[in-house]
Amino acid sequence: MTHPWHTLTADETLERLSSGREGLSSDEAARRLSEQGANQLEEFYKPSKLRVFLRQFENYLIIVLIFAAAVSWMAGETTNAYAILGIIFFISLIGFFQEYRAERAMEALREMVAPEANVLRSGRMTRIPVRDLVPGDVVYIEAGDKVPADGRVIEETSLQVVESSLTGESVPEDKSRAALAEETPLADRTDMVYMGTTVVYGNGRAAVTATGMDTELGRISGLVQRRPEEPPIKIKFQRLAKQLAVVVLAACAIIFAVEVNRGAPVLDTLIIAAALAVAAIPTALPFITTITLAYGTQIMAGKNAIIRRLPAVETLGSTTVICTDKTGTLTRGEMMVRRIWTGRVVEVTGTGYDPDGSFLLAGEEAVPEKDGSWDERIEGRKGVDPGEDRHLYALLAAGALCNNSRLEEGPDGWRVIGDPTEGALIVAASKAGVLEYVEGWYFDEAVEFPFDSEMRRMTTVHRSPDRLTVSMKGAPETVLAFSGRIMKDGSEEPLGPEDRLRASEAADEMASRGLRVLALAGKEMAPGEPLDREAVELDLTFLGLVGMIDPRREEAKEAIAVCRTAGIRPVMITGDHKLTASAIGRELGILNEGGRVLEGTELEEMTAIELDDVIEEVSIFSRTTAEQKVRIVEALRRKGHVVAMTGDGVNDGPALRTADIGIAMGKTGTEVSKEASDMVIADDNFATIVAAVEEGRRIYSNIRKASSYLLSCNFAEVMTIFIGVMLGLPVPLIALQILWINIVTDEFPAIGLAVEPAHSDLMKDEPRDPAEPILTRGLFLYTLGISTVIFIGTLGLYANALRGGVTIEEARTTVFASLVIFEMYNAYNSRSLQTSFFKMDPRTNGKLILGLAASLEGLLVAIYHPFMQRLFETAPLGGESWAAIIVTASAVVLAAEIFKRMELAEKRSTAR
Ligand code: ADP
Ligand code: MG
Repeated sequence: MTHPWHTLTADETLERLSSGREGLSSDEAARRLSEQGANQLEEFYKPSKLRVFLRQFENYLIIVLIFAAAVSWMAGETTNAYAILGIIFFISLIGFFQEYRAERAMEALREMVAPEANVLRSGRMTRIPVRDLVPGDVVYIEAGDKVPADGRVIEETSLQVVESSLTGESVPEDKSRAALAEETPLADRTDMVYMGTTVVYGNGRAAVTATGMDTELGRISGLVQRRPEEPPIKIKFQRLAKQLAVVVLAACAIIFAVEVNRGAPVLDTLIIAAALAVAAIPTALPFITTITLAYGTQIMAGKNAIIRRLPAVETLGSTTVICTDKTGTLTRGEMMVRRIWTGRVVEVTGTGYDPDGSFLLAGEEAVPEKDGSWDERIEGRKGVDPGEDRHLYALLAAGALCNNSRLEEGPDGWRVIGDPTEGALIVAASKAGVLEYVEGWYFDEAVEFPFDSEMRRMTTVHRSPDRLTVSMKGAPETVLAFSGRIMKDGSEEPLGPEDRLRASEAADEMASRGLRVLALAGKEMAPGEPLDREAVELDLTFLGLVGMIDPRREEAKEAIAVCRTAGIRPVMITGDHKLTASAIGRELGILNEGGRVLEGTELEEMTAIELDDVIEEVSIFSRTTAEQKVRIVEALRRKGHVVAMTGDGVNDGPALRTADIGIAMGKTGTEVSKEASDMVIADDNFATIVAAVEEGRRIYSNIRKASSYLLSCNFAEVMTIFIGVMLGLPVPLIALQILWINIVTDEFPAIGLAVEPAHSDLMKDEPRDPAEPILTRGLFLYTLGISTVIFIGTLGLYANALRGGVTIEEARTTVFASLVIFEMYNAYNSRSLQTSFFKMDPRTNGKLILGLAASLEGLLVAIYHPFMQRLFETAPLGGESWAAIIVTASAVVLAAEIFKRMELAEKRSTAR
């Protein structure tokens, strides 16, 4: 159903949609939703279950297993062959479930940050999930929003939309309410907004005309299918798997040559080859990685860090620089006007948004009682020049007029709906009793040029019966630039150079106390005058300054200290003034001795090379624009840094995408910034970023531990078979026993390692090089050392058993049991690659203890259950054998202690 909506007027559109300016009722909306379906593009990437299942077979390791099954079959070991095939199926099934679950978990995370829209239902503005929008809904959109559905503009204030996602045109288009001719092409329909395009300026209301697949985007959405990215760690594992496959082939070739040379039957050699192939494969490793990542993202979500792209989890652990906003992230974003400058300094008292407080001029009450008419109040104070009061009132009134926020008294006190900076101005006006007055006096906002962090100002024009009142607020230097006159004690004078100097000195003085400073200006115009921006903002009267406190977040200070010990550099990037930023930076420990502050204007003049020269010293970037943020990230990345960067604004998308980790604000961030991000922090808190980095490090470190643990077993198995056969002994293990170890007895403790809690030293190390392989040289040597101890011990027990004249079944069972018991010691030992076995607290990882019990259970079942005995060709062991195994296997603990003292596993292959 397409209708030439653009040819209708706003009211005709609403009528045709059976809606009105109040929007739909909730009942009607619910009815339409069930009729029309959700406002959703057909699922982008939803792999079929079969696809996920089949994907398991693309795995290298599985291919080697199939090879082993084929070889066993050729060797006449059909039971073995079938058992291996069964196990392949089983592994694929587990792999499938793991992956499916992990994908669902990611979906659940995405759901936590699902886009929302502001919609009018029965005249009330509410926020609902975008997917619940229906045709006829009236939505409110503003800068930073993604347009949630196709709609006809019914009201707008300087509304500008970038429609590049639809038309390829990246220049913002001005929207208006005026109906258009039928033949107007899509790209020129200025009275329509389309799903998926971006509001970059202003705000407005639109009546939803089409949702979901009926939208213009829906029609072309076949083009945007996207497959989720593979985490780099999986790619690293693929590489490792390939290397292992090569090692296996080489070992097989050697054995084959040696054995055939000795005159052994080819069939026997094939059985050895099959066992070797199976032994080399860390079957459990891919599962463990998936589990670790999936479980890790849940933990992160619990700590308010919501991962949107899985690869970010790993990258987080390598972060070397965190670039952060100031307002709301390092500070609480709860503003309160503390000082006012009107040529004199007035202190404002009170707490938070509670509109109760007073104005003190040199300690004396500066504002009279709140009752009485405006004029009475101004004239009524004995001994005070009424001009002084008039001036203060004019300033507070301008702040209240040039404003889109509201003050509300809720159950837990006063709160601001809207921008906290504007909320603070409302509170100040309310404290002086100016607010009610302003509300009654002006009845209509004629024009608004909204705040924009690039322009750093906002201007409004309000109508009253006999005049138009212009109000501007913004950064002091900006407002001064538009001012030609200045108010002094209620009367206006030309703004001389001396006045400018005094005003900017006063602004600097406030800023250096860490106050956020805004200037206010205004003028009056005659009712019929033109309202284009240039005319409105011409020759204003400067009214004065307000300075706001924005309390810093206590936890941010601690988090910054943690960054320092963890080798991560925190950098503040703010639109605020240099002095304000420095004062807060110093308090929080971001700006230290030797740290530099670079202003946006200075950065603008630098070439890339000049920027590279100083970037390592700059701790604060002030008065920056979104474009400059991109330059900063690029320069840091050129220096080899892994950059995490926060962003919330309309224009922050490119910087968030350029950063290694783009972080959006859950509470105050725009939809556009969330969409561009890798991670969303639900509480807008800097400390949450640092917690996420720690979690990223923990996850990676647990994957390393689990890898070392699992691979040590594979190495030991390969070596036991290889050396055993070379020594002329019978094959020490059969393929099924090896599979049992790899899949069953090793897997449970590995899950325990995956959930190992963070150790205290995690944030004391330097960040990890993201290019570093999982098995660094150090970890490789460590793992090799451990497996050497294991296979020598195991072979010793094997030779001893054979010499004692036991059956081959019993001798192999000794090997089987020995490997499992060795690995049980090693699992507990692998909880840390640095800390001593004896210093770890068994109570902090119950899952591992359970895993060890399950491992033991798996071993005993394979040895003592009659059916399993037949399948695995095992035989019961005597008490003496068990004692020998348990004592011998403890040697691995001793070896690990020595390696840990040598700090072997932590030796870096690459210096940073
Ligand atoms: P940040 O978020 O880093 O604090 P902003 O871009 O929000 O930086 O603010 C930059 C400057 O713009 C502030 O120092 C202030 O002077 C001015 N400003 C901030 N909010 C508003 C607003 N709502 N209206 C007008 N000016 C504002
Ligand atoms: Mg801001």
